[in-house]
Amino acid sequence: MAEHNYTISQIANLVGNQNFLSQPDQIIVNLLTDSRKVINASHSLFFALKGRKNSHQYIQNLYQQGVRAFVYYDRQFDIAAFPDANFIYSENPVKALQLLSIQHRKQFDFPVIGITGSNGKTIVKEWLYQLLAKDYAIVRSPKSYNSQIGVPLSVWKMSNSYNMALFEAGISEPNEMENLQKVILPTIGIFTNIGSSHDEGFADTTQKIKEKFKLFKESEILICNKRFEQYAFQHTKVITWSKSDPKADLFVNDIREIENNTRISAVFRTNEINISIPFNDKAAVENAITCWLILLELGVDNESIQNRMLRLQPVTMRLEMKSGVNNCSVIDDSYNSDLSSLEIALDFLAHQKQHEKKTLILSDIQQSGLSAEELYKKVADLLESKEIDRLIGIGNEISQYKALFSPSARFYNHTDTFIQNFKTADFRNETILIKGARDFGFERISKALSQQVHETVLEINLNAMEHNLNYYRSKLAPGVKLMTMVKAFGYGSGSFEIANLLQFNHVDYLAVAYADEGVTLRQNGITLPIMVMSPESSSIEAIVMHHLEPEIFSYEVLTAFTEYLKDKNIKNYPIHLKVDTGMHRLGFMPDDVDELVDYLLLNHHVKIQSVFSHLVGSESAQHDDFTKQQISLFKAFTTKLEDNLKYTFIKHICNTSAITRWPEAQFDMVRLGIGLYGVDNFTDDDKNLEHVATLKTTVSQIKQLKKGETVGYGRKGVMFHDGKTATVKIGYADGYLRALGNGIGTMLINNQEVSTVGNICMDMCMLDVTDKNVQVGDEVIIFDSQKSLYKMAEKLNTIPYEVLTNVSQRVKRVYYYE
Ligand SMILES: *Cc1c(COP(=O)(O)O)cnc(C)c1O
Repeated sequence: MAEHNYTISQIANLVGNQNFLSQPDQIIVNLLTDSRKVINASHSLFFALKGRKNSHQYIQNLYQQGVRAFVYYDRQFDIAAFPDANFIYSENPVKALQLLSIQHRKQFDFPVIGITGSNGKTIVKEWLYQLLAKDYAIVRSPKSYNSQIGVPLSVWKMSNSYNMALFEAGISEPNEMENLQKVILPTIGIFTNIGSSHDEGFADTTQKIKEKFKLFKESEILICNKRFEQYAFQHTKVITWSKSDPKADLFVNDIREIENNTRISAVFRTNEINISIPFNDKAAVENAITCWLILLELGVDNESIQNRMLRLQPVTMRLEMKSGVNNCSVIDDSYNSDLSSLEIALDFLAHQKQHEKKTLILSDIQQSGLSAEELYKKVADLLESKEIDRLIGIGNEISQYKALFSPSARFYNHTDTFIQNFKTADFRNETILIKGARDFGFERISKALSQQVHETVLEINLNAMEHNLNYYRSKLAPGVKLMTMVKAFGYGSGSFEIANLLQFNHVDYLAVAYADEGVTLRQNGITLPIMVMSPESSSIEAIVMHHLEPEIFSYEVLTAFTEYLKDKNIKNYPIHLKVDTGMHRLGFMPDDVDELVDYLLLNHHVKIQSVFSHLVGSESAQHDDFTKQQISLFKAFTTKLEDNLKYTFIKHICNTSAITRWPEAQFDMVRLGIGLYGVDNFTDDDKNLEHVATLKTTVSQIKQLKKGETVGYGRKGVMFHDGKTATVKIGYADGYLRALGNGIGTMLINNQEVSTVGNICMDMCMLDVTDKNVQVGDEVIIFDSQKSLYKMAEKLNTIPYEVLTNVSQRVKRVYYYE
């Protein structure tokens, strides 16, 4: 791919204001914006982006990993400390990245399809890829890389190996599209539709449409619904579809559900044609029509269109992680396989620190557009840079290229051969990524490796959690550290899986309630400092052995801990002092300060790492005076302590709600708890958060019952009409409390709200599904949004914290990342 080989001096001339090049001939292949995702270090160029964190701080670490080229914006940064590296100065590194991609884009004259609109961008892009992969070698945006940064990174992947490109563009504010248009320069445009997302930046819908249409400024062809035709540029050839206007090029005159398929009939410039797709929802139908029009325009014949449409696959960008056999973690991505999604999945695998050993089970990669040799060479390089210990390759093609991989890799021609030879004992204490093209049926491998999953699961959305983390981060004053609370099994969400994500995102501290929670984290690769809030005297040894840091809240705890350290001859062990400013739960009283100073001045076994207190009503205006008083007591206590001890320590008092409501009290660190999980008691903040945990189960049986018959223990549920019930696999032992029985609790089945009937049993309960469309095996949602979680809490007369932590440990947690 010669066209990828820019030298750093060529790049510097294109994008830099001032260059410091010690190796001007360095070849750059890879562009990096995320310091955590390094591949091919010696040929990578890192862009230090302006943002929440000063990204120059990652340069040292990247340098150690072998990166030698940087675009930076801070003139104060000491580049002299990296004598053999190349530095390019740019006031605006995002602009520099875009400029470079604009230049790169100009090298190619094959069709480039640019997709925008409020919804459906990613689906249309992925479906076009599925539909056109037989005719074209396609390069496309990975996942939904459609931002000011994602788009240039996608375009950078263009090369002469391809003859078509599919890129999506997303904007949230006016004036962003002009940049993206220059980078993508689409020859064919697609406008999916307009909805209400990202409304805040725009005056009205018209402005939003006009802004999005800027993407098509230089496009020859535009595909859209007839009602958007008016916004197109004069010179563009607009090809439209419509369900109501016969003047559209593709006039859709009938949409009909036939079992699980939908048949769409239309007139295309006088020809009557139709397709069937294996989906029923409205959005899927519209997205398929858009794709259909592109295929027609590109001249694909009707028979091929029909065949391919019938085989459209759902677009899942989800990586699921669950517990596997023999203490393995299994990451399941068994529905798609291409180079860019492999890269993303390997990244996710590399971030899992719970096991040292990492295994990849990989099928042939189909329709990559590259020659097989080039493709598997790239795969081999990826595996090496991601430090994958073991490869199991399945498929004729990958098997042919064995020689490119490590000698320990094993190969099978078919999934069946692998399964016939499969022994559970071959997999132990490792993280396994299962990644295969759909045809290979890797879900069978996933089943064999996963622990049997009960059909009640709590799904944890790791992207949402990352979003929430970043939201609160954006609210911190510069330099304020972040401690995240993962006590009580991460508010019910999980332990090391959550901690891994937090560690990967560079939080400063974790806090758990008990020593054993901390020990579990340590045993699963968590190296962040961890505070233990209830150190029991029986756990002191474990605390010290695993470098956990105790909260010291009384003289008893302080003396017990000191005695232990003295005995072991340990000095300056980090501890966290808790002061009680009004909670009256645990902590030294403010009056204790003098005595505490005397004691600590003579005690060299402990060193105060932090002093903290807890607010009792930070979320509510009603308690603002009390909160102020707590803050001022805390200030007085810590000032006195610091003045007397002659050293400084970290001071912190804010919990979730206080981070935004009491920014003046952020001190040196804040303690983020429930907000991470998508809930803030100060409800104004909820809308900025994403929901994290979804509790769901399935229907085991349906019963037809007559009026007057009763349901469940004690005959409490009475049918007041002829009807039917569904028995579902969740009961009070799972955390679905008895108080929710007899019509109090509600669940969702196929988007229909249904109520409980009768008492809740230990492992099951019954729902009244009279007149509802419900079948055995259907998914049942208990809560899947902030709203449904709050609703359930309200019915139980409690708060979301209790609902989340009540979901019992036997309910399997499945983590996913998109
Ligand atoms: C649980 C806890 C927090 C977090 O509180 P949220 O309201 O969940 O943010 C903070 N500090 C202490 C001491 C806690 O126990």
